[in-house]
Amino acid sequence: MSSEIVYLDHSATTPVDEAVFAAMKPYFSEYYGNPSSLHRQGQKTEAAIESARSLVAEILGCPPTSIFFTASATESNNLVLQGLSLDRILNSSRYHVLTTPVEHPSVLETMRQLQSRGRGMHSFLPVDRGGKVKVTEFENLLSDDIALVATIYGNNEIGTINPVKHLGSSLQSRPIAFHTDAVQTVNFIDLNVNRLQVDFLTLSAHKFYGPKGVGILYARDPGAIQPIMKGGSQESGLRPGTQNVPLIVGAAKALELAQSLHKSESARLRPLRDELIRVVLARISDSALTGDSEERLPHHASFVFSGIDSNELLTYLDLRGYACSSGSACKVGNPEPSALLLALGYPEDLATGALRVTLGKSSSAEIVEDFTSVLIEVVDSLRSQVNL
Ligand SMILES: *Cc1c(COP(=O)(O)O)cnc(C)c1O
Repeated sequence: MSSEIVYLDHSATTPVDEAVFAAMKPYFSEYYGNPSSLHRQGQKTEAAIESARSLVAEILGCPPTSIFFTASATESNNLVLQGLSLDRILNSSRYHVLTTPVEHPSVLETMRQLQSRGRGMHSFLPVDRGGKVKVTEFENLLSDDIALVATIYGNNEIGTINPVKHLGSSLQSRPIAFHTDAVQTVNFIDLNVNRLQVDFLTLSAHKFYGPKGVGILYARDPGAIQPIMKGGSQESGLRPGTQNVPLIVGAAKALELAQSLHKSESARLRPLRDELIRVVLARISDSALTGDSEERLPHHASFVFSGIDSNELLTYLDLRGYACSSGSACKVGNPEPSALLLALGYPEDLATGALRVTLGKSSSAEIVEDFTSVLIEVVDSLRSQVNL
């Protein structure tokens, strides 16, 4: 067992970039005033939040009044779905929300609860085996009762990129709001909201080399959503609670860096990922790539292996010095198939043997090559029940 761990789990979280950490640092103990306070300490942190907001707005191509800081992408997704005046929608003729079956739990579980409480109706958009929205069938589904369409942009578990821009332009001429969870795409795709034609967009800083515990919500028309917590007037009253100044400063800095590097990082990682996929599929029998083979995040490789328990595989990879994931939140010692893969029609055997390898700034060709040979060895040994 090696003591150093090679990190190949960048879709779960990323390390905070040095420049981001440096930008945050003064706002812990030097400039610590409450941004709502009138004195100079408060003015200083309020100004820091407003310049972070302006920077985010400039990058996304919207007015600063459309940007809100939350504590996570989970909260941002909840704020849109729960806050979208669903009571009003339920009473009108538009009460129907369409999502894909492969959304993050913060979307799926929220919709499940809203529907069980009789607030709106939830249905799934048709997706292909890779989890990508079927565009032609999509257009036929846009009936008069639909209030909101919510589609994940880059899938965290299987890497598929949805045709958000195309869906956005189909919805443009209709009175249907469009939300996308763009958490996984920040490092790789330009996120101008006018190009994408989205009404709501969710981000989380810790997925793009920023700190954990801070989310961003873009809302074209903030008046359309109600706050889901009651309290003070922070964030225009939409998200009460004293803002976490250092995290907000870090989120904006991280977004700026990630969006400036998205082309070069995509170009650097794509061939490494392609080589990883090629070798794994060639050398490991009864294996398959999950997600779309073309329209996928440049850093993302996800597989299923027949006759393998993900948790066991991850444990042995960890012992060999590699941090990977199954892609879904499964519990140690409790081999459960991925709900997402089952929803896409994978048999239980394959859905229990998922592996997600997600590259990032620290990944090199050499790392990928070494990892691939270890993976081949570990899968072989697990299948032949040899003690490792
Ligand atoms: C990580 C992730 C989230 C949740 O982000 P948090 O800020 O950790 O709540 C939501 N959606 C996607 C696609 C993610 O990958």
